[in-house]
Amino acid sequence: MRDTLVLNASFEPLSTVTLNRAVVLILQDKAVVEQSHPGLRVRGAAIDIPVPRVIRLCRYVRVPFRRHAPWSRRGVLIRDQHRCAYCGRRASTVDHVVPRAQGGQDSWLNTVASCAEDNHRKAARTPEQAGMPLLRQPFVPSPADAMLLALGVRDRSALPEWLALSAA
Ligand SMILES: [Zn+2]
Repeated sequence: MRDTLVLNASFEPLSTVTLNRAVVLILQDKAVVEQSHPGLRVRGAAIDIPVPRVIRLCRYVRVPFRRHAPWSRRGVLIRDQHRCAYCGRRASTVDHVVPRAQGGQDSWLNTVASCAEDNHRKAARTPEQAGMPLLRQPFVPSPADAMLLALGVRDRSALPEWLALSAA
């Protein structure tokens, strides 16, 4: 299940949360549904609501400016559109460009999507050592891009017009 985008009361995108968390916020009257997945509903003993895609907090929260999206394996796979950085085929694993055994970090610039075969073949070597050049360079997604990625949205036009995502 995809994550739900959370907007501040001012309609600025804040973050994404799990569906469970989004439903809790709605049931506690802390958030309202701004956009839902058509035809999908959350049903329980006492609830029956549309599956939220975008919710908005009822009260404005002040949040510190975040320069970068937090790193995650899932985020790397989505950033690279599940394409292997070494062969371009479908990727299901995350490879450390500089292996952890050589001090490589969990970071946007040191990780790429990789198919299991290439990940295994490259092992604890750098692309140079393994003779496996990267087809493209990893990059740091902006927070706005990271939110779109988390929502599984590749095209900004799929979101409502009023949802002004800055590229900052
Ligand atoms: Zn591959």
